[in-house]
Amino acid sequence: MTDDSRRTGRAYPPVRKSLGQHFLTDRRILGRIADALELRGDETVLEIGPGRGALTDLLAPRAGRLVAIEYDRALAVLLRERYASSPNVIVAEADVLSVSLGELAQGPYVLVGNVPYYITTPILFHALVPPRADRAVYLVQKEVADRLAAHPGTKEYGALTVNVAALARAETVFRVPAGAFSPPPKVESAVVRITPHENALVAPEEERAFKALVQGAFGMRRKQMRRVVRSLYAIGADEADAVLQRAGIDPEVRPETLSPDLFAALLRARDQTP
Ligand code: SAM
Repeated sequence: MTDDSRRTGRAYPPVRKSLGQHFLTDRRILGRIADALELRGDETVLEIGPGRGALTDLLAPRAGRLVAIEYDRALAVLLRERYASSPNVIVAEADVLSVSLGELAQGPYVLVGNVPYYITTPILFHALVPPRADRAVYLVQKEVADRLAAHPGTKEYGALTVNVAALARAETVFRVPAGAFSPPPKVESAVVRITPHENALVAPEEERAFKALVQGAFGMRRKQMRRVVRSLYAIGADEADAVLQRAGIDPEVRPETLSPDLFAALLRARDQTP
């Protein structure tokens, strides 16, 4: 038995590595993650993948209401028992990707999670669907943190970078070594904070088309933009050049060099009549 299971008098369910179960055991790091969320005390907090409740324990006293979304039934049962006397903690047994975060929150919310690494990118995209969190703090593999903070022209810069950057500022708060988890993952990790821009680069009604444009362009990241635009919009070379000129983009550059602003300009240039 671990120290914690001795304290609670209950053995933990078997670790399911297929569910990305690496439990954070370093109390100092758990505290720093909770602090990074800068809770005011009255907010609704959605926690993705609470596991055995190590982070939940620190968040519950700082939240108005805490919804802990756990997929593993055995862990959800354990968490319900653990928080039976905490009326502000709700355990939702669900696949986070199949629930509406906004519906679970029932109002403004903040998002936090030591997320399962096998679905980190889908979770980050899922969290971009409105109504979005007022801010979010995630523990992710370092490689994903690097992609979120990447600059144009680097190999880490991609669809995730641009889609997040159009809506929010992503920053790495601190690094977390593999030894802080049990069992330790094979990769290094980092805590990232995502704070929405006051003025997003794309309007809510443009978001779906923007995502499709960015995903499509990075699917052809080594092609020149003339070819990318021709292919994505099914238009000829002259028309593609005209669209790119309106957006202020050189037809010979590659998508991986375009800033999020230029992607937004490209989205709008297609609809502008010459
Ligand atoms: N928060 C805990 C901690 O820091 O020790 C556990 C983190 S562990 C990396 C990820 C957690 O996400 C596990 O508890 C796992 O069962 C859960 N999980 C995996 N897939 C999930 C999904 N699709 N939806 C919700 N939770 C999921």
